[in-house]
Amino acid sequence: MLDKGKDAAVQTDAKAATPASCFNLTETWVLMLSLMQKELGPTACKSWITPITPVRFEKGVLELSVATRFIRDWVKTHYAERVRHLWAQNFGMIIRVDIVVAQTATPAAVQEVAAPLAVQRTESQPVADSLSSPLDPRFTFDNFVVGSPNELAHAAARRLADGDDVAFNPLFLYGGVGLGKTHLMQAVAWAMRARNPQRRVVYMSAEKFMYQFVRALRSKDMVSFKDMLRSVDVLMIDDIQFICGKEATQEEFFHTFNALVDQNKQIVISADRPPSALEGLDERLRSRLGGGLAADLRPTTYELRLGILEQKRRMLKRDIPQGVLEFLAQKITSSVRELEGALNRLVANAELTNRQLTVEVAQDLLYDLLRANDRRVSVDDIQRKVAEHYNIRISDMHSPRRARTVARPRQIAMYLAKALTEHSLPEIGRKFGGRDHTTIMHGVRRIEELVVSDHGIQEDVEKLKRAIAG
Ligand code: ADP
Ligand code: MG
Repeated sequence: MLDKGKDAAVQTDAKAATPASCFNLTETWVLMLSLMQKELGPTACKSWITPITPVRFEKGVLELSVATRFIRDWVKTHYAERVRHLWAQNFGMIIRVDIVVAQTATPAAVQEVAAPLAVQRTESQPVADSLSSPLDPRFTFDNFVVGSPNELAHAAARRLADGDDVAFNPLFLYGGVGLGKTHLMQAVAWAMRARNPQRRVVYMSAEKFMYQFVRALRSKDMVSFKDMLRSVDVLMIDDIQFICGKEATQEEFFHTFNALVDQNKQIVISADRPPSALEGLDERLRSRLGGGLAADLRPTTYELRLGILEQKRRMLKRDIPQGVLEFLAQKITSSVRELEGALNRLVANAELTNRQLTVEVAQDLLYDLLRANDRRVSVDDIQRKVAEHYNIRISDMHSPRRARTVARPRQIAMYLAKALTEHSLPEIGRKFGGRDHTTIMHGVRRIEELVVSDHGIQEDVEKLKRAIAG
């Protein structure tokens, strides 16, 4: 499991740590510690497990470091397999656990997981592998909860993962932060690699693409960079909005894109907005990007959030009261990432302090997070502020009155509700006295026009935005 010479190869390398995924090793390790403690009891855990520092988790290999060779050998023979097993059960895919001796394992370094050590890699890596960013082992289809906001995107991803043909090119996934774009893309990558290990599936962020492009330019190595890219079977680029406005990178991406499409290779792209809304993007590229299937991940619903939390509870094998999950699903509406972070924090805290998890404890521990979510704008706020500003009654927001003096402010409130909240048009319609979504759409459009043509309205809208945000 571990090669002998490895401890000599330990070295610090800041660069290797930069393309960090959002996977939080420190948090995961805290959970691992508590799982190990349950299994081994406090004494053994304190002697052998607590002194371990998690170094990195990459390509399914969990790397741990300890202070001496003796501890390494002991941990390796007695606990490594246990760690691997628990990890697989609770956090997903893992290939093996490597244990290395840290060169300068001072107590401070043991605590400092934020600056991980890197270990020289000995195995030779195939081309696609070195080009691809590591995949997060939790980002699989099994761990992806499907609900109405992500149904289409999920179905499209599944279709690609289950077939060998090119179904739609490209698949363009878009949606706000933390709604599952990266998870879904990597799920496709895992599934494709599992289905056919020969298929060269490259996943990388647009940022990494740009970085590699610039590096190839500098080292006058463009030809091999291009060859490498064009030799892949499936190319996935995450967060393409990063290359908007970066002309040379765009140009290269465009050529690669065309070459791959011509060879009938599959491309998957993600962005924080639809192709039509990508600014600073070459027109040809934009229309090509929109030429396949664009599927959006919409803001989560309460049901989806609860479903995700329940799934997470199963994975963690924790006894978390349903009421706590419902509380979180109701209160933390911004992104799934925040939702998961909140749950992890609760579990880690409860483990460490031995407190029973209740809604009160959750309220207490997540005070800051809950406040930030509360501060998000509601349609009621908007209606109140707009009514104040124009000196009309709040009830006029719901009433059928069509007099210009109330109709225009009402439209402004609709426009702001669309711009500043994540509610859908039908949802907004309900909050405006049960109006139809087409009425809301009409109001929003009207104000969009006026903001451009009418200076007074533009000022009002700006002022209101500031008042609502403050
Ligand atoms: P994005 O790339 O859209 O910003 P991510 O894919 O990184 O978002 O998702 C953020 C976090 O939320 C990840 O930990 C991911 O596993 C989780 N997540 C998002 N959507 C789902 C879902 N439908 N089911 C399970 N987990 C999800
Ligand atoms: Mg992402």
